[in-house]
Amino acid sequence: MKSLAFLIINFQILLAFNYSLEPKNVGAATQCFFGLPQVMDEHNNGNISNSCFVNMGTSYLVIDSGPSYSYAKEAYDKIKMIKNLPISYVVNTHVHDDHWLGNSYYKEIGVEIVGSSEFKTLPILEKTRMQMKISKDAYEKTTQTYPEVFVEKEKILEINGEKVYIKSVNKKAHTRSDLFIYIPSKKIVFVGDLVFNERLPSIRDGDVSGWLKALEELKSMDVDYIVGGHGSVVSKKSVDFTYNYLKTLKKEVSILMEEGEEIGDVVNKVKMLEYKDVNFYDSMHRQNVEQAYRMLEWENE
Ligand SMILES: [Zn+2]
Repeated sequence: MKSLAFLIINFQILLAFNYSLEPKNVGAATQCFFGLPQVMDEHNNGNISNSCFVNMGTSYLVIDSGPSYSYAKEAYDKIKMIKNLPISYVVNTHVHDDHWLGNSYYKEIGVEIVGSSEFKTLPILEKTRMQMKISKDAYEKTTQTYPEVFVEKEKILEINGEKVYIKSVNKKAHTRSDLFIYIPSKKIVFVGDLVFNERLPSIRDGDVSGWLKALEELKSMDVDYIVGGHGSVVSKKSVDFTYNYLKTLKKEVSILMEEGEEIGDVVNKVKMLEYKDVNFYDSMHRQNVEQAYRMLEWENE
């Protein structure tokens, strides 16, 4: 019996999915795992968004926990090989599940998880979107673990003498739940999906005008690094791609709306071909135009 149990345990270890994660040093004592510019599927197993570890001297501050328990465990194992420190907090930038399903691992090792108060309104689903798209092995041990510490407007953490400001955008931008995490002593801000690079942003749960305002605030911050939720550009210029796309989208849709064009014609006409080679253009751009139209129609009423 003993050997059978041993065999089963080893079999389970073999089954655990390996993401082959590699941390990248981005400066400001920060290592990030950058997700692939793809939709979640059984090949990438949800490795499509960013998860970052800030070395605060005596502990790590983790920004977003990734798509699964196994992703989170593998990420922390890799980071411990650089320097073995405990984790003080995990902060979830918003409610999209590619950014927080790894919470299940961090909760298990006793880490405090911080997120938007919007998490309080999220139901526990029978199956998450991630769960339906990725392999069983990769999703193994993942549970819908929500933050336990909520941010309404702002929360200030003090970690090893350094202040960390967690601020709510306080208007609908990428979602209603966007937080950004600003560490003045390191001149870095983590902004979740307010910033996309290397792929088009999804505006499905957001608001174009609120999002542009939020990005304008970020552009005015005194920082050297702005780290988004998708894409590996981390300089202050990382904001430009999303900002320019949304600004052009809003402008072109507004002009046609003022000319009285119907939604179907606007979707066909606002092609923005300068973005045609960007990942997700084919699957997402028309949808973004349609959503922008509906948002602006509502705003103008
Ligand atoms: Zn998102």
